[in-house]
Amino acid sequence: MTPLTCDQVVKQFFAYLDRAISGAPLDQIEEHLEECLSCCDKLAFSRQVDAFVKARVPEGKVPEGFEARVRQALQRAQEGV
Ligand SMILES: [Zn+2]
Repeated sequence: MTPLTCDQVVKQFFAYLDRAISGAPLDQIEEHLEECLSCCDKLAFSRQVDAFVKARVPEGKVPEGFEARVRQALQRAQEGV
């Protein structure tokens, strides 16, 4: 199996935090996180965003455009490394 790139891992963070990923793809993400400090940092950030959203939006519905803004913020964080 090909190792995931940071980009591929970051894109799956929200699904990962939602426990929407299982089996081999989940193993791959966790393997990457064990070795990649930069993704660990980003995951911590995503987790905060996720908790923020869930605390304010009980039905799991986010305001329109919110996800896009989060992705932009993640991308900026990524470029800042
Ligand atoms: Zn990484």
